[in-house]
Formats: sequence, C-alpha cells, structure tokens
Amino acid sequence: MGKPRMIVVGLDCAAPTLVFDRYRDSMPNLGSLIEGGTWGPLRSSEPPITVPAWTCMVSGRDPGELGLYGFRNRIAGKTGLRIANAQDVRVKRVWDWLGDHGFRVASLFVPLTSPPSPVRGDMISGFLLQSGDAPWCFPRSLAPEIEERFGPYIPDVENFRADDLERIDEEIRTMTRQHFDIAEHIWLEKKPDFMMMVEIGLDRFHHAFWRHIDPHHPKHEPGNRWFDSGREYYALLDAEIGRLRELADGDTTFLVVSDHGARAMRGGFCINDWLIRRGYLVLKDPPGTVSPLDHDRVDWSQTIAWAEGGYYARIFLNVAGREPHGLVPTHEATALTNRLRRELGALQDDDGCAISTMVRDPKEHYREVRGFPPDLMVYFDDLALRAIGSVGHGRSIIPENDTGPDTCNHDWNGIFVVSGGRVPARGRVEGAEIYDVTPTTLSVFGVERPPGILGRDWTA
Ligand SMILES: [Zn+2]
Repeated sequence: MGKPRMIVVGLDCAAPTLVFDRYRDSMPNLGSLIEGGTWGPLRSSEPPITVPAWTCMVSGRDPGELGLYGFRNRIAGKTGLRIANAQDVRVKRVWDWLGDHGFRVASLFVPLTSPPSPVRGDMISGFLLQSGDAPWCFPRSLAPEIEERFGPYIPDVENFRADDLERIDEEIRTMTRQHFDIAEHIWLEKKPDFMMMVEIGLDRFHHAFWRHIDPHHPKHEPGNRWFDSGREYYALLDAEIGRLRELADGDTTFLVVSDHGARAMRGGFCINDWLIRRGYLVLKDPPGTVSPLDHDRVDWSQTIAWAEGGYYARIFLNVAGREPHGLVPTHEATALTNRLRRELGALQDDDGCAISTMVRDPKEHYREVRGFPPDLMVYFDDLALRAIGSVGHGRSIIPENDTGPDTCNHDWNGIFVVSGGRVPARGRVEGAEIYDVTPTTLSVFGVERPPGILGRDWTA
C-alpha cells in the first residue's frame, strides 16, 4: 500500500433517513462507497449543533472541554453571548497533528476556522467569517488564486430563514458547486495527503425547505412545487462526491460524514415565558408584544434564572459573585438547580399534556467544563421542539421558530460512510460517534493517538 491519503467530505446536517433510505437511489456514488465500506448513523455531540459539533469531530474533545456550548457563548462579566470564532478553539485539530507528522493538509470550509490558522498546507475558513479585511484563507496568496478561477468566495447563504425560496435554492446550489470546484482544484494542485471539506449548503437547505420535502411535517402541503428539490439537491451532492471520488486512487480513504442529523420541528417551548410564570425571571415591566429578552429590561434584583433559546435551552442562574447583578448565593445554587431540574422534568403543554425533556448539568455530563457553561441544558420533546428565548407569547408552545421561518430542527444522529485505504469494510455498524473521526483519521496515517482524546478507531 502506498502513502496514505484521505478525503473527508462533510455534509452539514445530512440525515440518516434521507441518505440511507429516502434518497439512496438518487445517490449512486455514495451507494458505491456504502457497498464497499463501513457506514451507519453517527451520534452527534451534545448539543448537536454545528458549532461545537465539527470541532468535537476534528479534535476528539467534548463541548465542555472545548468550552463551546453553541454558536454563541458567554464571556465573563456580561450576561449576553458572543459569536464563537477560531480563536476560541484552544486544542489541536486533526490537521494540526497530521501536519506535525509531516503530512500535507487542506482544511476547506470547516466551521470555526475563521480566522484561519497556519497549517502545513492550505486552509479556507468556513462560514461565520470575520468581517472587514480579515483573511479568509491560509496562506493569503491562496485568495487571488481561488477568486481568479472561481469568483468571490461564497462562505454561506445569507438570510436562509426567509420566504424567498427561489433565491435561497439558487444560492445554495451555486455555493455548493463552487465549494466542490475549489476542493477539486486544491486536491489536484496542492496534492494534500489529507483534505477535508464541509458543505454547509445542506444545513441551509434543510432549514429552508424541510416542510416542503417531508411528507410527515404538520405543515407539509402534498404536491407542493418544492417537493422534489430535496431529491435533486441530494443528487447534486452525490454527483459532486463522485467527482472527488474519481480523482482519488484506490488507496485513498474516503469518508463522508455529517455533524448532526435533521428532523421535523413542530414548534418551540417558550422557556423564558415559563421562567417568568414560575417567578424565576422578573422583568421591569411585562412584555406588551413578543420581543427578544432584553437584558436591560430584566429586574436583576429579583431574577433567579434566565435562559438562552435555540436548538436547546441554556439556563443560567443569577449567581452572586459570578453575574454582574448576582442575587443567588453560591451555596444555594445547587438546591435551586435541582428544583429547576425537577420542575423541567414535569413540563406540560398548553393542553396539560406532558412534554418530554432531557435536562443536563454540564458539570456532570462533560469530562471538564471550560469557558462559561450554562447551569442547565434542556432539550424539549427529543428535539421536535426548539427553545424559544423571546418573551410575551402568552402560551407554552408556539408552532414556529422565533428567529425566522424554519421547520427543521437538528437531530442526534448524523451519518458516516467510510471506504477504502486502511479502514476494513464492515457494512452497516451501530454505535459510531462523532468523536470517532479523529482517532480513525490519525490511524489511517499511522499517527499515534494523542492522550486524552475521545473516540473509537474504526481501522482497528
Ligand atoms: Zn451543522
């Protein structure tokens, strides 16, 4: 066997039911990888969110160790959140270890790589680019080389939670084609030993189009004009995967992977309204209309807890000494956390029906908690419901997202399909986790497993 090489294609948000079942017959290239490889569902990180999930995947560290609890994270001294960037990643990622061992790498469009870092090869930052004149690639000379051939770099589709679906559909396809064009160019011109690209377009597609392509979504309209767009877009991704596959020789390990899955979202649980009703959160004046939780309108002198919404709820206690206007004495925090846990375990909807919840204490769940962890993390109805952070809804559950039209939530299981090189073909396997990617990749290159990382080596 020659020198090891590997291509990783990340499909952000690819769902097992769609890839392995519904659209399988429109994905012949992935089908041939499946037939000759090892594949199955891939359990995401908790939370199953793009940031931190990709970073967990490429570092073998859990979100607590990374201090990344979502797209936005708290910083000391403020109650608000700040969008994460690559400087928040303080651990090595798989391309760093491979570079240390003399392999040439390419990291393309991977989330949380802006600003780009020096690597032994090339890096093009993923979405959430730093604004202004900040570089979006390493080395900088790569920028004119790419833009001369492929036009201005498209890191993401703007405003994908919107109603102008024609625009979104077209922009997603254009972006996806550009990304694979760039990947092909890098593979041929830079000859990396390891190349990883992430296509964010699929995540944007799911959020924009889910109810139109999922016959089981409560808002699905049979015969709608977008119904076939799911099959078409998955087929486009498959054709692009096939293009890269043809460039790789038989010794190249090929891995297709996603950071989390996707599922129908039936609405959201209004967590801050609930905290207000229970007396934990006190506003200076009651919200007249639906509005985001304005921290300047919170009466911190009476507030015990508040929450951040999103795919899940992050609940923060207003702890004295930790928070700017802290109220809860440190020694009472544990008892309060336990009380909230009990009450969140017995939630009801507006008709008095139980809502299932999964409540996590990050200190118990992660191996370590860095950064600013929430005091509790709450998942509603196994992710069929989002957490609604805005206030003034007047009810527990609303039928839509509060940050723009969206009928898709993330799901626990993404996908993985690995074929070729040193990974034995095992067929369908259960129990693979997002953390397995780093040890498996390092093993493909014969690099010793770094101490302390999570995950199973699928070459073994
Ligand atoms: Zn994602």
